[in-house]
Parts: sequence; C-alpha cells; structure tokens
Amino acid sequence: STACYSWKLIWKSWAPPRVKFFHWLANQDRCWTAERLAHPGLQHHPRCLLCDQEPETIRHLLLECPFARKAWHEVLAWLRIPA
Ligand SMILES: [Zn+2]
Repeated sequence: STACYSWKLIWKSWAPPRVKFFHWLANQDRCWTAERLAHPGLQHHPRCLLCDQEPETIRHLLLECPFARKAWHEVLAWLRIPA
C-alpha cells in the first residue's frame, strides 16, 4: 500500500547503465519472468528454477526466493549492515 520511488533514485546513482535499466524494468514488473512469459502463452517453467517452490515472479526472484534471501543476507553481512 506504500509507493516505492526507488527507481527515481537509481537513475542518479553511480550504478552502471545496465543495472539502472534492470532496476527500472523490475520496478515496472517488465522483466521476462515465467509469470510474464505465461501471459502471451509463451513456453515457460511453471515455478522458480532456483528453488522450484513458488511461481517465478520478479518479486519472488529478487526478494522472496530462498536463494535471493541468502544472497541479500551475504551482501548485508559483507557491508556490515544488520539484516
Ligand atoms: Zn525461488
């Protein structure tokens, strides 16, 4: 229920253009996930290829997947930021 305007900040960051573009696509749910491939009837795997537990959505891939959570945990630990 809260709006996220992080995509506005990413354009001003030092990140490489491809990272900025990916963030912008992810924010607009425009990445080619299985969920998005299913809509026009394109061939896709029904669940996340990493964990095989949930439908592959951009939110799942970046935030909810156990592999993503592990990666974020490692990044936060490396940056010494409490999770
Ligand atoms: Zn997953």
